[in-house]
Amino acid sequence: MLEFDRQHLWHPYTSAVDPLPVYPVVSAAGCRLRLADGRELVDGMASWWCAIHGYNHPDLNDAVTAQLARMAHVMFGGLTHEPAVELARRLLAIVPPGLQRVFFCDSGSVAVEVAIKMALQYWAATGRPGKHRLLTLRGGYHGDTFGAMAVCDPVNGMHERFRGVLPQHLFAPRPCSRFGEPLVSGDMETFETLIRRHAGELAAVVLEPIVQGAGGMWFYSADYLREVAALCRRHDVLLVADEIATGFGRTGRLFACEHAGVAPDILCLGKALTGGYLTLAATLATERIAAGISADGGVLMHGPTFMANPLATAVACRSIDLLLASPWQERVAAIEAGLRAGLEPLAAHPAVAEVRVLGAIGVVETRREVPVAELQRRYVDSGAWIRPFGRLIYLMPPFVIGADDLRLLTRAIGDHLRVLS
Ligand code: PMP
Repeated sequence: MLEFDRQHLWHPYTSAVDPLPVYPVVSAAGCRLRLADGRELVDGMASWWCAIHGYNHPDLNDAVTAQLARMAHVMFGGLTHEPAVELARRLLAIVPPGLQRVFFCDSGSVAVEVAIKMALQYWAATGRPGKHRLLTLRGGYHGDTFGAMAVCDPVNGMHERFRGVLPQHLFAPRPCSRFGEPLVSGDMETFETLIRRHAGELAAVVLEPIVQGAGGMWFYSADYLREVAALCRRHDVLLVADEIATGFGRTGRLFACEHAGVAPDILCLGKALTGGYLTLAATLATERIAAGISADGGVLMHGPTFMANPLATAVACRSIDLLLASPWQERVAAIEAGLRAGLEPLAAHPAVAEVRVLGAIGVVETRREVPVAELQRRYVDSGAWIRPFGRLIYLMPPFVIGADDLRLLTRAIGDHLRVLS
């Protein structure tokens, strides 16, 4: 199997001819992944941040199989179904105020594409077609499709590789003001200048509220986000919040916007939406945006084949019910305490530049790029599933992880730092 995989399959962000190693996994339950050779690994990644309830959860399994017995899929053009309507009802009850309309799509990147399209169509339909550019922050990550890529960090994103093809947007520096601290003087300066100078051509500000994820695992001040929202209002620019990574409790609030009391015009959700069971994302908008897009008789021009897939929307409903019925705040707080206890002492290690913890996210930023394959092999030998990238070793475990398993993960990170010395 491994030989065929190596010769014929693409894995993400690795060479087709000299790929990073892969580990065959045969099953998963709770917070454990079982490898083909019988070893069990404690999962520190929640499968790229989405398996918040752990794996093979009886309630989520039940939601999928019950829906499967009714129908696996139907087109959403001209048809509707209860799982989609129920999911929209649940989402609208918990997201920041003002959001009234839900567009279901297949993945986080597509949710961002739809958000950008909504913003552009809104201004075009309301008589200001010149407002078609975007303003964003350096250090951001919004997905791998072209519209989303264009607002990823221009250096660690893929701008160089697609030079001349990506739309040219505006970038403000990564915020210096840290989470939990007030705004550093001058931190908003470039952002403010850009939004003031370009308001006439700006459709929207696109950002990840509070936590920049794959672009650098950076946590910034709620004051910064509040100020961004105020500047957007003042200059008539829409605010798009990408909560694909932060949504559903990861930062200690149900949505990261809540840290700043900010309500976006457009919100992107994905990842933990289905508890990691199936691919599904959503782009939500206010009534103003929805009505504006159709002000000239137009329609939102998007409609993926698997839009609002019944299996995915059914399991998403159950995942939200499960989350809200669980003591998720206490669980995230306990994970935060465990991450602080296990990771903060590592800040003194010479290979470590900084340790950051927020909610169920723990980050060890190293001074040099990490040797991914070697570190990962060592983690696996220690019973831990951790996938570092660049200069970042991080943990985003399922919310149901126990103290001992969390300690195994933080110990694995600490024990193998010597590889970097
Ligand atoms: N936005 C953010 C903030 C993300 O973290 C990600 C995925 N890492 C995406 C968008 C893209 O989502 P997907 O991989 O589902 O396309």
